[in-house]
Amino acid sequence: MAHDIQPLYIDGHPVTATSGDTFSVTNPFDASLLATIGQASEADVDAAVASAVRGQKVWAAMTGMERARVLHRAVALLREQNDALAELETRNTGKPLSETTAVDIHTGADALEYYAGLAPALEGSQIPLRESSFVYTRREPLGVIGAIGAWNYPLQIACWKAAPALAAGNAVVFKPSEVTPLTVMKLADIFTQAGLPDGVFNVVHGDGRVGEMLTRHSGIAKISFTGEVGTGKKVMAAAAGSTLKDATMELGGKSPLLVFADADLDRAADAAMMANFYSSGQVCTNGTRVFIERSVKDAFEAKLLERVARIHPGDPLDLSVNFGPLVSFEHQQKVLGYIALGKEEGARVLACDEAAFTQGAFARGAWAAPTIFTDCHDNMRIVREEIFGPVMALLAFDEEDEAIRRANDTEYGLAAGVFSENINRAHRVIHQLEAGICWINTWGDSPAEMPVGGYKQSGIGRENGVETLGHYTQTKSVQVEM
Ligand code: NAD
Repeated sequence: MAHDIQPLYIDGHPVTATSGDTFSVTNPFDASLLATIGQASEADVDAAVASAVRGQKVWAAMTGMERARVLHRAVALLREQNDALAELETRNTGKPLSETTAVDIHTGADALEYYAGLAPALEGSQIPLRESSFVYTRREPLGVIGAIGAWNYPLQIACWKAAPALAAGNAVVFKPSEVTPLTVMKLADIFTQAGLPDGVFNVVHGDGRVGEMLTRHSGIAKISFTGEVGTGKKVMAAAAGSTLKDATMELGGKSPLLVFADADLDRAADAAMMANFYSSGQVCTNGTRVFIERSVKDAFEAKLLERVARIHPGDPLDLSVNFGPLVSFEHQQKVLGYIALGKEEGARVLACDEAAFTQGAFARGAWAAPTIFTDCHDNMRIVREEIFGPVMALLAFDEEDEAIRRANDTEYGLAAGVFSENINRAHRVIHQLEAGICWINTWGDSPAEMPVGGYKQSGIGRENGVETLGHYTQTKSVQVEM
C-alpha cells in the first residue's frame, strides 16, 4: 500500500520536511508498514526553533491562569481521544492495548493536568535588606526547550517533557524517537485545538542527526533528553560545547529489587513480574536484578513459575493479551543476543519458552520469550548491562548488608525496591540504596506528583513533581532602593 509522506509540525501546522529523506515506521507485531515520515533538515529545525521563539513570547505574556486553561483543554481532548491514541500507540510499539488504554495516554494527560494546576502558582520571593532596600525574585521561563524522546512511552514522554515546560511559559521543539513518531503528531494537533498559540509546541522528525541539530542549536535554552546513557553523554557534550545549555537526562537503569525472607512473597512475586515483563520489559525503571534471600529462594522461584504460566501473549490489539512483541526487529536482535549470552555465561534458565515464540503468527513479530535466569552472579553481563527486554536475573543473598552492597554495585541508579514486612528494615535498606525512584512493598507506579530521575549515570535532574517546574525557570533577582 502506498503511503503519503507524513509531515513535521511547525508553527501550529503540519509542514512537509525539506530534506527529501524519509524513513519507515513498522508494526512490530506483523512487520506491516504503518507510515513513511519525512526527515527534518537543518532548515526545518531552524524554522521550528524560529517559530518557537516567536510563540514563546506570546505564551509567556499570558497569565498563569490563561496558560492553565489551555493545558486543561488539552487534557480533556487527550482523555476523549484516549482509545484511538492508545490503539495507534499499540500498533507502533507492540505494547498490549490493555496497557496503552489504561496507562500510556492517561499518565501523559495526568502530567499536563498536574502542571496546569501549578502554572498559576509560580511565585517569586521578597527578601528584606534594610529599611530602604529589598530584593524580589521573579521565576522567568528559560525560552525554547529542545526535547528528545525514547521509544518506549512515546506520547507519555512527550507530555512529561512538555507539561512543566509549557506551564512555566516556555515553548517546546520535540523530537520523538524515529521508531515511534506517530502519536506525538496527534498531541501537537490537540495542543492547537486547545488554543496553544502557534509555534509553542513543534515536532521535528528524524534520527539522532536531528536530535544533534536541536542539541547544538543556539536558539534552544535547555535540552530535556530521555534515552540511553551513551546517547545522553553525547547530548550533554554537544549541549555544553555549543551554547552551554542546561540539560535534564532521563537515562537507563539496571535496578535492584530486594526480597527479604520476611516479605509477603506473593506480593513480591507479583512485583517482580511487573518489574520485568510489563511492556515486555521495556521500562526504564525495571527491577531486572531480583535479589532473593536464600532461605526463600525455592519458594519464590515456584511463585514466579506459576505467574509466568499465566502470561498471555498474542495480538496486542486483543484486550485479553498482556504480553506483546518488542518494539522493533532491531531491538529483538539485541534482546535475543542477551538471552543467548545468559546461557553462555552459565546462568540457569528457570523460564524461557523460546520455541513458542517462533511458531504461527509469532514468527512474523519481534518477539522475545519471558525469560528468568536464576543462580546468577554479579559479574555476568546479563546482570550488569541494561537489556531492556523481558529478562529477569535472580541473585541469592544471605545478609542485609551484603544485599545492599551488591545492589549498589552498578553504574546505574534509576530505581530500587524492597519487599519486607519489617517496617524498620524496609526504610533502613531503602535509605542506603543509591537510586532516585524507590518503592517499598510495591513496584512501578509513577504518578505525576512523584519526582522521578536517576542517581549516578541514570540521569541528571528530575521529571514530574513540584520541583521540576523550577527546572524550567530561571531566577531573576531585582534589588530595589527606595
Ligand atoms: P536512544 O538513546 O537510542 O535514543 C533516544 C533518542 O535520542 C532518540 O530520539 C534518538 O533519535 C535520539 N538520538 C540518538 N543519537 C542522538 C544524538 N547524537 N544527539 C541527540 N539525539 C540523539 O534510546 P532508545 O533506544 O530510544 O530508548 C531506550 C533507552 O531509554 C533505555 O536506555 C531506557 O532505559 C531509556 N529510558 C529512560 C527513561 C527515564 O525516564 N529514565 C524513560 C524511558 C526510556
